[in-house]
Amino acid sequence: MGKNKLVIFSAPSGSGKSTIINYLLEQGIPVAFSISATSRSPRGQEEHGKEYYFLTAEEFKTKIANGEFLEYEEVYTDCFYGTLKSEVERIHQAGLNVIFDVDVVGGVNIKKYYGDQALSVFIQPPSVEELKRRLTGRGTDTQETIDKRIAKAEYELSFASQFDVVVVNDDLKTAQEECYRIVTDFFNRE
Ligand code: ADP
Ligand code: 5GP
Repeated sequence: MGKNKLVIFSAPSGSGKSTIINYLLEQGIPVAFSISATSRSPRGQEEHGKEYYFLTAEEFKTKIANGEFLEYEEVYTDCFYGTLKSEVERIHQAGLNVIFDVDVVGGVNIKKYYGDQALSVFIQPPSVEELKRRLTGRGTDTQETIDKRIAKAEYELSFASQFDVVVVNDDLKTAQEECYRIVTDFFNRE
């Protein structure tokens, strides 16, 4: 099912991307999550080498200088995130398709780079008010971090039309099933 394909998920923070991706990873589809590198600190139960490779800003910059990133962005001021080329190689060598969780700019860039080999999915929240509620309810960020993320949400929402598919995450179960169908249809396509 699928060969060397890539599925990109992007959305404003709090839209439910990670929740949907984690659901897809449990469905027995031949996919693996591309573990990004970041210079932010772990939050909640996050572990190095699972959700992210947590690097210092210096380590991150060294990898930029060494050309180790497929793409990277300073998503929030002083907070770098990037996809290591070695991640895509690791997953494809294992015979699996790749799932990315990247910001909207990274998502558009990865899609351009891979063309038809990739499918880009934008997860849209019902409203910015609901985003605020979800970020607060998640209970993993300070008020300052939540404010920074909300401040960026309108800008990020303006990228939706540049994605192959837009899925509104209002009712979670409906959104998860829709994403499952979209991803498996894409993998089954020649
Ligand atoms: P993201 O990865 O996009 O930042 P998360 O997956 O961490 O977002 O979701 C943010 C919060 O919203 C989490 O606490 C999650 O459980 C909750 N959430 C996700 N989808 C929904 C939904 N459809 N309705 C209500 N809460 C949701
Ligand atoms: P968070 O801090 O909530 O885990 O992620 C913040 C933002 O960074 C999200 O929009 C997430 O998709 C994005 N992000 C995570 N990894 C990468 C990456 O490798 N590249 C880019 N461009 N963005 C990323």
